[in-house]
Amino acid sequence: MRTSTTIAIFTAATIVVAGVGAAFGPPSIGSPRKETTVRTTTDDQGRILSAAGHDVTPLSPEKVEQLARKLTPEQYRITQKAGTEQAFCGTLLDNKKDGMYTCVVCGLPLFKSEHKFTSGTGWPSFFVGYDPAHVAEKTDASHGMVRTEINCARCDAHLGHVFPDGPPPTGQRYCLNSESLKFVEKGTSVPKESQPLMKTEAGYFAGGCFWGVEHGFQMIPGVISVESGYQQGEVDNPTYRQVCSGNTGHAESVKVVFDPTKVDYEKLVRFFMVLHDPTQLNRQGPDYGTQYRSGIYTVGFEQQKIAEKVKADLQASPSFAGREIVTEIEPTEIFYPAEDYHQDYIEKTGRSCHVDIDGAFKAAGLKPVTKTIDH
Ligand SMILES: [Zn+2]
Repeated sequence: MRTSTTIAIFTAATIVVAGVGAAFGPPSIGSPRKETTVRTTTDDQGRILSAAGHDVTPLSPEKVEQLARKLTPEQYRITQKAGTEQAFCGTLLDNKKDGMYTCVVCGLPLFKSEHKFTSGTGWPSFFVGYDPAHVAEKTDASHGMVRTEINCARCDAHLGHVFPDGPPPTGQRYCLNSESLKFVEKGTSVPKESQPLMKTEAGYFAGGCFWGVEHGFQMIPGVISVESGYQQGEVDNPTYRQVCSGNTGHAESVKVVFDPTKVDYEKLVRFFMVLHDPTQLNRQGPDYGTQYRSGIYTVGFEQQKIAEKVKADLQASPSFAGREIVTEIEPTEIFYPAEDYHQDYIEKTGRSCHVDIDGAFKAAGLKPVTKTIDH
């Protein structure tokens, strides 16, 4: 029993971080492709899970062949023979509905409607994938060009290409064939193959410079991924430079994806409220401006209730006597991931930040995990 418990904890805490862009080399056109950070965990059955909780274990060629039998000849030509549909002919080019775009072969979610943009190229275009672990990249030297091909990470279906000339904040343009995608509209039933294997929950926290806040949350057992970004502002697709000016209304924040069976939301809120100083208005440590404000951005009524309860509890406690907690609690708006060089900043640079990690762990009654990081 003791042994199996140890293995389970180790497995859950193992995070594999790999730079995909660097592994396959830069393309020959435009500016160099930025590295994409791919995070996966392996569960106790050896299945590879993405941060979004989906099973991304590569399928066997036999299984892919079986799935490909249901495809139309055009879908087969594109996904299995790396074909391309004619520009301006795809059925999903002008689709503006809310929902997600899944792999037409295996059903893995690949893109979200909120990341779709009009590129004018004649093919559906997105500036970021559903999860970096869902879309694989490889160098394609066909047709006398060197391009970066994108494929479904689970079934290897050809999807299209990615180019470094997209809009901020990623600067990427994922150029898709409509025929390689299946659209699942928001509010309709999601097929089983498109559902996450692990039910995850997300929480959003703004507590000053996101580098340190991200680093603190990354050490919590049960937290699957933490991403730095911007939210609650007025400009679409903001860049760091824009947010830094303090004029866009965004807060620097982190998106924390967690396994609610291992850590509950209330503990995360309690951790956060000590990690940063919730009594500082539009400021944390040396950083001043509304982009450094203290905020908890909730998903659903339950999270809002919990966040408000923790805030009230703490305000009534002796440690906050005479000090007003100014943390704003609001429903989350669109979260824009920050440029890749901001992700894992503390881990990459070894720098310190304004956060009180030891105090936060004590306040939440949690113990940090030891992670295996492979750069
Ligand atoms: Zn697939």
